[in-house]
Amino acid sequence: MRNKSSFGSASLNLTYQPFTDTLKVPVAIAPPKQVTLFLYKPYADINWKQSLLKEGLEVKTGQRLAVSDDDDAYIVSSVTGAVKSIAAFTSDYGRELTAVTIEQAAKESIDDSFKAAAENMALETALKYLCNLPGNPPWHLFAGDEKKIKAIVINGMDRDLLVNANQFVVANQVSDLTVGIKAIKQITGVETVYLALGRDRMQGLGHVGATLIPVDDVYPGALPRLIMKDSLNQIVPAGREPEDLGVAFFSAQAVVAIGESFATGILSITNTVTFINKDGSGSVVRVPMGTPVGDIIRHHDVTLEDRDRIVLGGPMTGQAIYSVAHPVQRDTDAVMIQARQQIPHVSDYPCINCGECVRACPALIQVNMLVRFLEAGQYQDAADGYDLLSCFDCGLCSYVCPARIPIFQHIRLGKYELKRAQEAEAETAQEVEETDA
Ligand code: SF4
Ligand code: SF4
Repeated sequence: MRNKSSFGSASLNLTYQPFTDTLKVPVAIAPPKQVTLFLYKPYADINWKQSLLKEGLEVKTGQRLAVSDDDDAYIVSSVTGAVKSIAAFTSDYGRELTAVTIEQAAKESIDDSFKAAAENMALETALKYLCNLPGNPPWHLFAGDEKKIKAIVINGMDRDLLVNANQFVVANQVSDLTVGIKAIKQITGVETVYLALGRDRMQGLGHVGATLIPVDDVYPGALPRLIMKDSLNQIVPAGREPEDLGVAFFSAQAVVAIGESFATGILSITNTVTFINKDGSGSVVRVPMGTPVGDIIRHHDVTLEDRDRIVLGGPMTGQAIYSVAHPVQRDTDAVMIQARQQIPHVSDYPCINCGECVRACPALIQVNMLVRFLEAGQYQDAADGYDLLSCFDCGLCSYVCPARIPIFQHIRLGKYELKRAQEAEAETAQEVEETDA
């Protein structure tokens, strides 16, 4: 495996969504009848007999809800109403969560208990109240005694093509962005803050409190590893993340949500989501977190035909979901509908060694070799010999593969399995250490 990533230039010239006037005005949709929020804790691990969070509990908009006062896992209700159901939920790759569904009442009451907490702009406050904001702020990177983060990059671009959530909030919520930047500086003690944007989107943002850095408009120029290399002159080595080099990435949506929360004293609960229709046209909607994606689809008068696909995220890296009841989550930036005729068919045809994936790969990985090991489930070999961990998840290899091999899905699964094996190994080592002590 190479010790450090190296980068090529994809010759495909796929550019990020131009920020047009039609995307500057959000589409208003009817309030959801119910929302579903994920508590990031397995249902089976909770003592429900003693839980403060229970079915029938009446809640207010913006209220923090946890199973006990000292539990780190919590949700923030995005509506006023009563808890209708609490159930186990299996997320991507078998991750166990708890799904809490809240039925909306006719009259809204706002919980403003964050107002008092907001006076103490500290990490402790952020961890207690701001972990579940739209945009998924990475506060965990600052927890612990060791101050390893030296710089923050706010990504004002979106992670996929056709997606416009971050670009929307940067263009439309400049004052919240400014308050959010001030807040993250104070909370983290990090003074070096960059705002990464396309060159044509920088106008009028000189005063927000961050240094503007330009991002390449050609996909995947806005992915963190490429911003690290192109704008900060730092190469993230294989298997490492920007935070290992002292750089934390926040989405612009998260920073705006932080700003909104401090400016109003009420926790931000509204997600900005790009809706991408079957013909590729887009609109921006603002919905309470937990809104079923079906509400957004219905609002746009889309008829779902048999074998049409609903995707959370954009065309290169989004993930298919199987139910219109699936909720908008804290990291949902787009809902895309693909008509069955447009869905690239995956196949079990063998690789024909055309080399298209190798030419497209901006990380210069020998993808044609990598995929052979991934298909065989030899993930450690794929990492050791064929740079699995140099991949930064752009999906270009799958996009160009004429044999329709689901390369990107193999890559995701391979990385997940390797991480799981490493965690299990570390856990076993710790158990042995504790037994020996
Ligand atoms: S997803 Fe594919 S093209 Fe993109 S960096 Fe990884 S291997 Fe290369
Ligand atoms: S693009 Fe597909 S068929 Fe061509 S070398 Fe890569 S994996 Fe093989």
